[in-house]
Amino acid sequence: MKTVIVGCTHAGTAAVQELIARDPLAEVTIFERRNDVTFLSCGIYLYLEGVVDSLKKVFYATAKDLEALGPNVHVYLQHDVVRIDPSEKLIEVQAITTGRMRSERYDKIIITTGSYPVVPPIKGVNTPKVSLCKNYDDALAIEQNTLDAHKIAVVGGGYIGTEISEALSRRGFEVMLINGRSQLLGHYVDSDLAGIIREDLVDNGIEVCDNEVCESFEAVDDKVFITTNKGEHTADMAIVCVGFSPMTELVRGLVDMTPENAIKVNDYMQTSDPDIFAAGDSAAVHYNPTNRHVYAPLATNAIRMGKIAGANVAEYGSVKYMGTQDTSALSLFGKTLASTGLTASKAAKFFPNSAAVTLKTNYRPDFMPTNEELNMVLVYNQDNRQILGAQFYSRFDVSMCANLISTMIQNKNTIDDLAYVDMLFNPNYDNPWNYLNLLGQAAVNQEKPKRHRLF
Ligand SMILES: Cc1cc2nc3c(=O)[nH]c(=O)nc-3n(C[C@H](O)[C@H](O)[C@H](O)COP(=O)(O)OP(=O)(O)OC[C@H]3O[C@@H](n4cnc5c(N)ncnc54)[C@H](O)[C@@H]3O)c2cc1C
Repeated sequence: MKTVIVGCTHAGTAAVQELIARDPLAEVTIFERRNDVTFLSCGIYLYLEGVVDSLKKVFYATAKDLEALGPNVHVYLQHDVVRIDPSEKLIEVQAITTGRMRSERYDKIIITTGSYPVVPPIKGVNTPKVSLCKNYDDALAIEQNTLDAHKIAVVGGGYIGTEISEALSRRGFEVMLINGRSQLLGHYVDSDLAGIIREDLVDNGIEVCDNEVCESFEAVDDKVFITTNKGEHTADMAIVCVGFSPMTELVRGLVDMTPENAIKVNDYMQTSDPDIFAAGDSAAVHYNPTNRHVYAPLATNAIRMGKIAGANVAEYGSVKYMGTQDTSALSLFGKTLASTGLTASKAAKFFPNSAAVTLKTNYRPDFMPTNEELNMVLVYNQDNRQILGAQFYSRFDVSMCANLISTMIQNKNTIDDLAYVDMLFNPNYDNPWNYLNLLGQAAVNQEKPKRHRLF
């Protein structure tokens, strides 16, 4: 049986690794449009911040490494798959350097073509002084533009825009963050926490422009002039990070898709065509908090889905997808923001009786020489008390808190479970009641008349 993998960053790589782990002699042919595989986009901000000294270090495998997985694995870089003919089980591939076309037969195909950074329809967005932020070439373009830059405008107040703004600010650039929405990070946190994060960004020198929509870019000499709905700004360069959309033209009309053009897959990563599998940013994911298909382009989803696609191409039915809570974290000026599941404002759209509780507390006893405050939000459904989401922000490392709540959402645990679940106590790490127990108890108290409160 011959498997073709189209696109080879995280999902494609995970797919071939798992397929070969299960079937070492499997025939796998990989086509990748770029001249590299496995670039970790998060390396861009680490490089800009100076944490990683070379962009080359953020690749975790080469085409040769993948070919070394098995005797029948072949990787073709700079090869673009331009057409799939499911009736003949053929693909057409173009070698980008020569333009030469060829056909290739397949038995199974795995689509791991990923996503595009959204390019907003703004006049001048293609000027070289304006960069996107996704792949290795974008990283090189940003680096080149920063060489003579003093002031940088970042457009987009989501995860990437906020992360890049922080990195550039730490590196000493003057940073203006232009956010078209009324709050930052709206996908991850509710407005109160977003306000605290905004204050931290401003205190660290970032100019945050809310509700400001870019209308045009104009490069003049060494500057870029940015016109927004509120006025004009001048910067030495701009970086546009306003989201991602699935790269799925190749299979349009061949498999079922969501309204956002993300490929619909079943729990085994199989599309509506049983011989076509899909994984990663090209596909929709099953979002457990709402039990729906959503588009959630994350490397975590890509590697999980890729591995499951590889497993099920080798042995159909062997591994089932568990869905996702869209769990994420980012580091902002020494603080960690971690979130999972629904924010309160999103929960309200799906669950009329959803509620949120917030809790601020120190993570360990005050007799310890140092301490840190935790900002926590728990979102839950009042009807069945199930946990729907959580947000954490602190100088203390709260990334694992989001992972724990993610597991609880997946397992349909309630606020009562969180209030009493067994957690360790040691003054180095927490109080006799762990802060997550306290968060659960705060939710339980909110649901109870005063005389029955837990603390
Ligand atoms: C700046 C930045 C930071 C991020 N940080 C995080 C993070 O901290 N945590 C996290 O979980 N996620 C993060 N992400 C998201 C993560 O990078 C993506 O979810 C991940 O790259 C998706 O992997 P993928 O393999 O599905 O798709 P992609 O990475 O989009 O790769 C798809 C590949 O397919 C190739 N391709 C497409 N069409 C064809 C074709 N027709 N023929 C041949 N090849 C083709 C493309 O060239 C590409 O190499 C970040 C993203 C960005 C941009």
